[in-house]
Amino acid sequence: MTLRLYNTMTRQVEDFVPIVPGRVSLYTCGPTIWNYAHIGNFRTFLFEDLLRRWLEASGLTVFHVMNLTDVDDRTIQAAARAGVTLREHVEPYAQAFFADRDYLRILPAHAYPRATQFIAPMISLVESLLAKGVAYRGEDGSVYFAIARFPAYGRLSQLDQRELRSGASGRVSSDEYAKEDARDFVLWKAAQPDDEQVQAAWDAPFGRGRPGWHLECSAMALDLLREKWGGDVLDIHCGGVDLIFPHHEDEIAQSCAHTGKPDFARVWMHAEFLNIRGTKMSKRFGNITTARDLKEDGVDAAALRLFFFQTHYRQKIDLNDESIAQATAGLRRLGDFAARLEAAPTRATGAVGEGATAELDGAAAQLRDQFSAALDDDLNAPRAVAALFDFVTAGNRALDRGAGASSAAREAFAWATGVLDVLPTPKEADAELATWVEERIQARKAARLARDFGKADAIRDELAARGVTLEDGPGGTKWRVG
Ligand code: AMP
Ligand code: ZN
Repeated sequence: MTLRLYNTMTRQVEDFVPIVPGRVSLYTCGPTIWNYAHIGNFRTFLFEDLLRRWLEASGLTVFHVMNLTDVDDRTIQAAARAGVTLREHVEPYAQAFFADRDYLRILPAHAYPRATQFIAPMISLVESLLAKGVAYRGEDGSVYFAIARFPAYGRLSQLDQRELRSGASGRVSSDEYAKEDARDFVLWKAAQPDDEQVQAAWDAPFGRGRPGWHLECSAMALDLLREKWGGDVLDIHCGGVDLIFPHHEDEIAQSCAHTGKPDFARVWMHAEFLNIRGTKMSKRFGNITTARDLKEDGVDAAALRLFFFQTHYRQKIDLNDESIAQATAGLRRLGDFAARLEAAPTRATGAVGEGATAELDGAAAQLRDQFSAALDDDLNAPRAVAALFDFVTAGNRALDRGAGASSAAREAFAWATGVLDVLPTPKEADAELATWVEERIQARKAARLARDFGKADAIRDELAARGVTLEDGPGGTKWRVG
């Protein structure tokens, strides 16, 4: 099976073929760090995390870039309101984002460029677009991209001209008179008093100002890709569906007009929205839940991962107390089975056990096949999760009948749960207990080596008093609670 992915550009599921065999450049639009990222943002970031993990599990080397938008209307307004500089305002939110990312077990990207660190490449990009005649300086001193001079505009969003016009003017109505065409978007905004107040203005040959949001991603993606591997076309570019238009459409216009290539990314992937009880989550509707809210409520990050992965990334999803409770129950089932498989003897018990071992191994092979096939099919995580739970059911049945847990069975389960990263977070107390048990096992081993069997038995009793059972096997001593 080859990996197939849905490409928003073609509206089709296609075979994924990296530009250079064996490696993948992945650019994911990151958070705007004006405030805490909400759990809706993290739905998109978790989809991207799974994509990254599956590409890597498929043997590809991934270069993953996620930008942090640290200069735009929202960050400037928030800093001005708080009476601090832009930098002072965003820094705590950048750190909060990294902490939330770690809580949710999202693999760190290889680079987290911030817009304000890439002002020079952005200025060069605007100069290139001015030189090519696809950008112009408006009457207000800002620089705009002339959509009429880029015929491929609208290819990604497939909106008709009327929709493009209303979409563009809805966002930038104040610039209406400065532009040649209502659809044009800003590349570089002439500095305003608020920008100066929060130190968000830079000198450029075409006037003092600050970058437009779309420009940031094009400049950072092109710059980092060129530095890492050369080239100016990304393999995969991701974001939430709200970024298709205008953000990604505008990124394509700027980047392709500059590079002269027909594509900015081979594959465009977009995650559907997370709703809270049916409404799109946003600060505007006042229905925000942040990752830290959920963490404080004691929700295991693995339950959230399981919850998100149980719905395909191109389907809308609803978060509510019931869905969290269901995911938590599913997680417990996975955790119980993981402990049982870990503690299971390697050898079968009796003739029935022999047959059951074969069944368990068969179920493990099936898990590998079905799990791979599901994720290869446009990252069908719900089917992959279902394959995992089928294995748990079959595994429990086989173990009930005395199956031995082979390394093939253990490895298949560890591999699938590792790709999704959905095993329960060990409790602090469990970690403490584990350290203590390991120490006692070593002490018992030493006592037995010294032929002090009385002491060895006393240690076994001491462990039993805390509910820990030992099992001595060829591979050493294993333990379990209960
Ligand atoms: P922002 O911080 O607004 O720039 O958004 C960061 C990422 O989160 C983008 O990829 C958005 O498309 C995505 N996003 C925003 N709101 C939601 C939501 N409710 N559900 C899923 N993704 C979202
Ligand atoms: Zn972007």
